[in-house]
Amino acid sequence: MDLSYSPQEERFRAELRAWLEQHPPGPEPEHIDAWVAYGKAWQRHLYEAGWCGIAWPQAYGGRGATLIEQCIFQEEMARARTPLLINLAGLTMGGPVLIAHGTEEQKQRHLKAILAADEIWCQGFSEPNAGSDLAALKTRAVLDGDDFVVNGQKVWTSFARYADWCMLLVRTNPDAPKHKGITFLLADMHSPGVTVRPLKQINGDDDFNEVFFEDVRVPRQNVIGTIDGGWEIAITTLMHERATLTFSRQLQSRVALTDMLKLARHWPRNGRPAIEDALLRQQLAQALIESDVIKYTAYRSLTKTLRGGVPGPEGSMEKLFWSEMYQRMLEIPLAIEGPYAQLV
Ligand SMILES: Cc1cc2nc3c(=O)[nH]c(=O)nc-3n(C[C@H](O)[C@H](O)[C@H](O)COP(=O)(O)OP(=O)(O)OC[C@H]3O[C@@H](n4cnc5c(N)ncnc54)[C@H](O)[C@@H]3O)c2cc1C
Repeated sequence: MDLSYSPQEERFRAELRAWLEQHPPGPEPEHIDAWVAYGKAWQRHLYEAGWCGIAWPQAYGGRGATLIEQCIFQEEMARARTPLLINLAGLTMGGPVLIAHGTEEQKQRHLKAILAADEIWCQGFSEPNAGSDLAALKTRAVLDGDDFVVNGQKVWTSFARYADWCMLLVRTNPDAPKHKGITFLLADMHSPGVTVRPLKQINGDDDFNEVFFEDVRVPRQNVIGTIDGGWEIAITTLMHERATLTFSRQLQSRVALTDMLKLARHWPRNGRPAIEDALLRQQLAQALIESDVIKYTAYRSLTKTLRGGVPGPEGSMEKLFWSEMYQRMLEIPLAIEGPYAQLV
């Protein structure tokens, strides 16, 4: 694993950092509808300045840069505390999957629109009885002329309420072994028969949704890959989702840790700064170690991808480790502030 950057990569980082300083996204609106408009405007601004689709081919609106530069982009966005990109599903999954498996027509139709946030994408994989065991999915699609007719239900579909397109996994051959009879469709979320119901979470957010499909017609030309060959495409999607996101996450965790250290230095505990508490110091040290673990794991899997060409399963391990690590980390400010944390 080579941890140094080339002069070109260092130039890329400096150029991006300077651009972000000159073009800060501004404060994020609290209400989700306003946030969606803000998120679209921010992503379009990035796209117009050449900062979207860093490693995508220039012919499809990307920058044509390297995977390392894509990772530097993720790091710098986290360092500058920029908002989550609204079209995350399109940028991290939909686009890379189209580039790998889409027809030329599909690429021409969607890739630039994904980058410019003209089309928001969502991921219709999970179902009420198909989560970890995704291949158990039951949403059916039956060919009728040139269209598939889709019936079924998806759940946990992030941003479905605002999405224009859905990466939809459907069962097209119920008689085949369960991994073999699945097809990957691109469904227009504005089609008749699509109903989206937001799921309200305990914190009031409602960015997850249930999505119901009742006799929804999806043109056959919207199949990605082959009919009944969708499992392979789904795996490509998930590998890409996790491949470079760890670079944002490791830096996000480092940025959060810096905030926690600041807080611990000034928050009083028994008449002394909280940071002098031995137990808290141990928690902070553990968080620092774990944020380094995730950083070097990200570098290791990037090295492997650069040698092997495609992202491997390391991204899934990183995602699992990061989710557990981040939960532990977020308990630290609660421990520092105690009951005051409830007021924020
Ligand atoms: C932030 C977030 C965003 C998401 N966005 C999307 C989205 O946009 N689109 C989408 O399709 N999905 C989305 N999901 C859904 C996610 O992919 C599913 O939650 C995931 O696949 C797990 O499925 P489940 O929730 O049904 O849990 P289950 O599969 O029911 O698992 C529940 C628990 O049982 C355990 N378990 C399951 N099977 C076994 C077994 N055989 N042996 C032992 N233990 C087992 C699991 O480890 C887990 O602890 C999102 C989830 C999160 C957290």
